[in-house]
Amino acid sequence: MAKCSKCGEKAVTFIRYNGNHLCQDHLEEYVERRVKTEIRHQINLDGIGHIAVALSGGKDSSVTLRILADILAPRSDIDLSAITIDEGIKGYRQKTLKKAKTLTKSIGITHHIVSFKDEFEITMDAIAADVGDKTACTFCGVLRRKCLNKTAKGIGANVIATGLNLDDTAQSIMMNFTRADVERMARLGPHSKVQPGLIPRIQPLRSIPEKEAYLYAMLRNVPFSDETCPYANDAIRNQYRDMIDRMEARTPGTRHSILASYDAILPLLRDHFLASSLNSCSCGEPTPKKKCMACELLENIREQDDQKKS
Ligand code: SF4
Ligand SMILES: [Zn+2]
Ligand SMILES: [Zn+2]
Repeated sequence: MAKCSKCGEKAVTFIRYNGNHLCQDHLEEYVERRVKTEIRHQINLDGIGHIAVALSGGKDSSVTLRILADILAPRSDIDLSAITIDEGIKGYRQKTLKKAKTLTKSIGITHHIVSFKDEFEITMDAIAADVGDKTACTFCGVLRRKCLNKTAKGIGANVIATGLNLDDTAQSIMMNFTRADVERMARLGPHSKVQPGLIPRIQPLRSIPEKEAYLYAMLRNVPFSDETCPYANDAIRNQYRDMIDRMEARTPGTRHSILASYDAILPLLRDHFLASSLNSCSCGEPTPKKKCMACELLENIREQDDQKKS
């Protein structure tokens, strides 16, 4: 039986990239310590007022909320709430929503649930039937970002915390780099600048590997669902996941190195690709163009529908 490198108790995991075996207590402490450091680097909690967690009900956002609730428990000056977007995906969202409700109830925070149906009068199931499974995520991502931003503004949140972990972050960096989408690299969160109408995002788990987030959720009994969306089309991302996983297996610490390189060049990228000034779409949301992407996509869907009917 492997023993914890810190205290000699029974180890629950081996952290390959630093060679430590950790028991449950030390694994929890190790995750929480890095999340606290991330939050300190990403925002100044003093005067932040209200943080909303984008809670999908999956392990990462649930762990983000659990740890934030613990960190903020002694701070009566900071409100914490959760926002879940119900895209209208039968058989999938109900299950994740149920877990999200259990968690917010157990923590005792306000849980805002916003549906595409109420917001846009259409569900993702209806959109997917029109556009096909392959592009469903493109539509979903744009509409979800809009819902999240609008809801966060509506409830007076000054920052949105998302559940992106280290694996997600390393994959996104490599995907954008390989596609030469350098400008998009400059826009990956966490956001340090506040743009009018756009609620900045923080990523408390960005240095926590997916496996550690999963273990943390299991060990602390954080309710979460590992249900997969029926429209998930991760073909390209999976290629990067495989590549980075293989590199990590051969050279432990690769994901952290990708993140460290990215952080080192980020100030240069941000200086080079200055944020474009934003206009207000007729729906009220900020956009670099005249019309926001969500309104544009919804108009296209409605036009397609009208053409089918006529
Ligand atoms: S997998 Fe795609 S369609 Fe499903 S919830 Fe995520 S973004 Fe939306
Ligand atoms: Zn220990
Ligand atoms: Zn709009």
